[in-house]
Amino acid sequence: MKWLLELLLPPRLRCAICGEQSEVNVCAPCKADMAAFQHLRTTGRLGYSSSAKTIALLPYNGRVRKVIHRLKFSNSPSIARALAQAFAEAEVLPFAAVDLVTAVPMHRARYLERGYNQAELLARELATLQKLPFRQVLTRTRATPPQNTLGRVARARNVAGAFAAREDLTGRRILLVDDVYTTGNTVSACAEALYQAKAQDVVIAVVAMSLAPGQV
Ligand SMILES: [Zn+2]
Repeated sequence: MKWLLELLLPPRLRCAICGEQSEVNVCAPCKADMAAFQHLRTTGRLGYSSSAKTIALLPYNGRVRKVIHRLKFSNSPSIARALAQAFAEAEVLPFAAVDLVTAVPMHRARYLERGYNQAELLARELATLQKLPFRQVLTRTRATPPQNTLGRVARARNVAGAFAAREDLTGRRILLVDDVYTTGNTVSACAEALYQAKAQDVVIAVVAMSLAPGQV
């Protein structure tokens, strides 16, 4: 019966994160999770003098896994919009210090196969909500096997240098959006490409971050 209920319930009456019935965009338990988890860190892996701050809304736990799955496989702008609203409600992203929103790009072959890029859906909704321009300024220079099929060392090697900016980004303060942060290799490689194109600042926003046990 639950699947039937989920099918019939309009998305706006569900929590953007856990999908349970909710009058507000983010239900109280999920809001408490968000408040408890305002994860900010500086990625030290960038090969440039600048660093990129990573801001995650939630830990990648069971509840969040569900919403990420829906975002990935349902091509639903309403889920992306609800998540963008959740980001806005959490007030964790420095929108005043951003003048361009972009997303981790998907390789063309995979994009054609799936028809959309969930990171881009989310980035577009965030940009619209904050009245900021969205542009896909990054491109994949080669196809890479999915990160989750590889070990730790292979993951870093897999995406290093796999991205390039399509335009000069001198002086741009960029918000780079992705759905999940696991090892950080993908977003770091993207941030590096943005800095190579002379971006002034890069902030990374992800819905969920995988953490090693005890790291919360
Ligand atoms: Zn919830």
